[in-house]
Amino acid sequence: MIRFENVTKRYRGTTKPALNAVDFEVQRGEFVFLVGASGSGKSSCLQLILRAETPSEGRVVVLGRDLRTLSNRKVPYFRRHIGSVFQDFRLLPNKTVHQNVAFTLQVTGASRGFVQQAVPEVLALVGLDGKEKRLPHELSGGEQQRVAIARALVNRPQVLLADEPTGNLDPGTSIDIMRLLARINAGGTTVVMATHEAGFVDQMQRRVIELRGGEMVRDERHGGYGDRSGLPVLAPEVEKGAAAVAALTAVLEVQREVTSITGPVEPLRGPEGSEQVSAAPVEPESPSVTTAPAAERREPGTNTRSIPVSNPEVDALGLADKLGLAEKNDRDDEVGPTS
Ligand code: ADP
Ligand code: MG
Repeated sequence: MIRFENVTKRYRGTTKPALNAVDFEVQRGEFVFLVGASGSGKSSCLQLILRAETPSEGRVVVLGRDLRTLSNRKVPYFRRHIGSVFQDFRLLPNKTVHQNVAFTLQVTGASRGFVQQAVPEVLALVGLDGKEKRLPHELSGGEQQRVAIARALVNRPQVLLADEPTGNLDPGTSIDIMRLLARINAGGTTVVMATHEAGFVDQMQRRVIELRGGEMVRDERHGGYGDRSGLPVLAPEVEKGAAAVAALTAVLEVQREVTSITGPVEPLRGPEGSEQVSAAPVEPESPSVTTAPAAERREPGTNTRSIPVSNPEVDALGLADKLGLAEKNDRDDEVGPTS
């Protein structure tokens, strides 16, 4: 689904490559963390996948398309298959929540009817129903990021790229966003997320690709964050402990939720739309963290946030399903022949 073949990226005016001979392949349905210190090349990887940058050497193949041979004219069509969210949300400040999401569809020439149906659906999916008339400054950071995620998803992309999506959010809100991303992935969307959130990476036990100075130093199927020496330590130990417990509790919930829904739920995307890629079945992740020492230590009455998994979450997944499976229009074909 995403393949880096010996990719080296040198930016103009720099001597040391931002990425050096990076080689990996991401399969359909995977959740991949890109980790590494600031400047290690995480964003560069995402920019290459989006074809916002091109490799100096090597090849990037996304959804069966060699991005080297993708003409500039076709880039906007290609990008409809790739949703992206960033640390700084990047919302249009003078547009409402609805307008921010609708805009993405309108520029692609979607019909009014489709916009009126798809926008409320995707806003419900990210938990923003009732807020469609708000302006970005009338929302919390977490809600703004949800708008950005809704906007990234409204085109029903096969891949969601997230560049430090929780980087501007407090720990509790970050957990909510992580849960949302895990749920989106459980619905079948491939997620590649660059992050510094060691706690989430450790607890999710998903694939981890670690970069150091542009070199890929680790690719682990069920990994943790790894070397934390580059991470800043700001919070006093006590607070960090509480945040860690909250994170662990929530992530365990996510794992339980994901495990329980990946079984019965049909894959979000069927053979349609997979004509360019070899569909690689992804086995459901088993919750590899079954013991929760920190969570068990939690005393009743502490103010640790435990996030219950409720049925509406599963209903929301049904919505995702509907979004992904809704009547296929021919926009998928606009990218044209694949290499
Ligand atoms: P990360 O996201 O892990 O912090 P980046 O991919 O942003 O890393 O950066 C990797 C390296 O490439 C850094 O040394 C950075 O300064 C450099 N770099 C990133 N973007 C550009 C650019 N547009 N022009 C020049 N150098 C860049
Ligand atoms: Mg970055």
